[in-house]
Amino acid sequence: MDNTLEPWEIPGAQPLIEVRGVTKRFDDVPAVDDVSLDIYPGEFFALLGPSGCGKTTLMRMLAGFEQPSVGHIFIDGQDMASVPPNQRAVNMMFQSYALFPHLSVWDNIAFGLKRERMPKDRIAARVEEMLKLTRLEKFARRKPHQISGGQRQRVALARALAKAPKLLLLDEPLGALDKKLRQDTQFELVDIQESTGTTFVIVTHDQEEAMTVATRVAVMDEGKLMQVDTPAQIYEQPNSVYVADFIGDVNLIEGRVSAVSPVTELSWGEGRAPVAGQAGGVLSLGASATFAIRPEKIAISRHAPDTRNRVQGTVLDIGYLGNLSTYHVEVGKGCVITCEVGNRSRLNRRDFTWEDKVWLSWSDDAGLVLPS
Ligand code: ATP
Repeated sequence: MDNTLEPWEIPGAQPLIEVRGVTKRFDDVPAVDDVSLDIYPGEFFALLGPSGCGKTTLMRMLAGFEQPSVGHIFIDGQDMASVPPNQRAVNMMFQSYALFPHLSVWDNIAFGLKRERMPKDRIAARVEEMLKLTRLEKFARRKPHQISGGQRQRVALARALAKAPKLLLLDEPLGALDKKLRQDTQFELVDIQESTGTTFVIVTHDQEEAMTVATRVAVMDEGKLMQVDTPAQIYEQPNSVYVADFIGDVNLIEGRVSAVSPVTELSWGEGRAPVAGQAGGVLSLGASATFAIRPEKIAISRHAPDTRNRVQGTVLDIGYLGNLSTYHVEVGKGCVITCEVGNRSRLNRRDFTWEDKVWLSWSDDAGLVLPS
């Protein structure tokens, strides 16, 4: 077997989770709408989407807290229709962590193992192992209110992993942490996931978080799966305007397809040269479409560059973000394109200022033409 392939690329590989045509309705309104999805052992899988798109409902069905209205869920090849939550090899870590305030960190982690009547010496060994994994050895005797938010998050993770579930479901696991701690904890979470080999499914509305931790991301909207792909593919090859716009910053220009070969071109208004990009779907001549290009793929210059994709405009606004500068350039009435330039050296003089006439340019493969 070619071990450079990821599990989802291997024909016939057995998924840990198979979601087959699942719809969940509440009062006749679908919260999850005809979703089919495979998640493979050892994946760190992210369900991403705006509030109300159905990601928590999908996760609650994996845990067994909700039943599909239509369709089936298989875990390890077994239909979960009649399997209650406590008999699934699944654990769920809630956003609130739900730690027991009167129990020490040690006893919180041991709780589920004691309830399973595991022998005392094995409980002790397992709790020590979990404390080490989550770097909490020093805090074992403290109560939850005597540790920081990030440490509480690690206790919840240790407790959820103690019973060695095959699948751990994490509902907005870092939602209670501030930005810096959140970023550090994302890397810890990935390390812990890799060292245990447990399959993680995370629900988040934070696209940066999904992109940082996940092997694959499912982008949802109104109960439907819009795209399931690796973070890089989702960013570089979004399959729709919705996904392009939801992940990262993007410039969107609407127009009509004016050529499909050898490159796809979009005409966008009187007197302007068409823009060229890669086709991001099935496009026919004359169809309405949207050109999508990330700000960092656009170059800015004072003189006209020798390239097909170029447009002249006026600098409207400049944003200085420390590591990069963002230019908003008006290229026509009401049409503003954003480009981003990295700040490589400290104290470098800005090359452009407000009201400057500039050229924006990009290569033929920098942008995508997506069906509207
Ligand atoms: P959030 O990020 O805000 O948690 P979400 O993507 O997780 O959102 P869900 O909680 O899955 O969204 O909800 C999807 C839709 O289903 C929403 O419109 C919600 O109001 C509805 N819904 C969820 N649970 C129930 C319920 N028990 N009864 C009725 N409607 C529900």
